[in-house]
Amino acid sequence: MSANSPVIEDCDFEANGKAFGTLRVPCSTNTSAYGSVVIPIMVAKNGPGPTVLFTGGVHGDEFEGPVALAKFCRGIHAGELQGRVIVVPALNPPALLSGTRLSPIDGRNLNRTFPGKPVGTVTELIAHYVDSVLLKMVDIVVDLHSGGRSLEYVPNVLIHRSDDAARTEETLEAAIAFGAPMVLISQDLESEGLLESAAEGYGKITLSSEMGGGGALSRETVAVAERGIRNVLRHFGLCAGELERPEAIGLPATRVMEIEDLQAYVAAPADGIFEPFRHLGEEVEAGEALGHLHDIAEPGRVPQEIAAARSGTIICRRPTAHVGRGDCVAITAGPSS
Ligand code: CA
Repeated sequence: MSANSPVIEDCDFEANGKAFGTLRVPCSTNTSAYGSVVIPIMVAKNGPGPTVLFTGGVHGDEFEGPVALAKFCRGIHAGELQGRVIVVPALNPPALLSGTRLSPIDGRNLNRTFPGKPVGTVTELIAHYVDSVLLKMVDIVVDLHSGGRSLEYVPNVLIHRSDDAARTEETLEAAIAFGAPMVLISQDLESEGLLESAAEGYGKITLSSEMGGGGALSRETVAVAERGIRNVLRHFGLCAGELERPEAIGLPATRVMEIEDLQAYVAAPADGIFEPFRHLGEEVEAGEALGHLHDIAEPGRVPQEIAAARSGTIICRRPTAHVGRGDCVAITAGPSS
């Protein structure tokens, strides 16, 4: 409960048991003066213990989080838990309903809007509620993202280094426990305004993810997310049982990779058609060609080569050939030191 958030909750965060509820975020429009954006929420609690918050659908073109979290909500029994789990599978319903990264209502990017505002657009109100209410009542935050329509990732759990080495280690252990193909120690192009930066600022153990992308969903990436949700609960002692490690089900062990610096984000130097030479997951050397950029207007012109600025594995690529100047076409990362 936040004194100055206008969001109306119909869930009890303190009751033992499992219950679905809603968060009503005021959204006054021409057709609905007292309208709202309705966000589904599930709270499951069984006695004392840590609280984990899971969120999905912050961006509306990223689907593993909403699907895997909804499955988890349907399957979990409060009696399996020791502690409390709060799940918001679809934190940004307007964006998810339109299948777009940004909210179609106010054009805002929810993950650049934190800490939000108690008086503002609907996206600002959502961010403010999460920041001022949900983040304050939890110990661990897991925000499930994917690459969205314009990026495709090696499925990973994404974390940031903290100034506190012990906190970095604690976060890294939780990220490895998740059991995704990769843990990515990231450096973000924009590090403020994120749900993650807000949670880290409050001292919460914070995991994010990039599960695939391209605006698509696969059986494999949903399975990574589902397994990760359960593994996080086992790791923090909310659920009993051993971690389900990828090696145990015939998959490669989790690799820990790190983005060296922001040069690892390779941008298109001009508008055009990008012809990739390399696949997602391949190794490249700095200066090596990632592909050619073809000029639509001048077929007689030699295409521009786009090269990797840093050596490493291609952990992310643009899945669509049409690129604009400044679009990210690939990201490389090396093994973490
Ligand atoms: Ca995202």
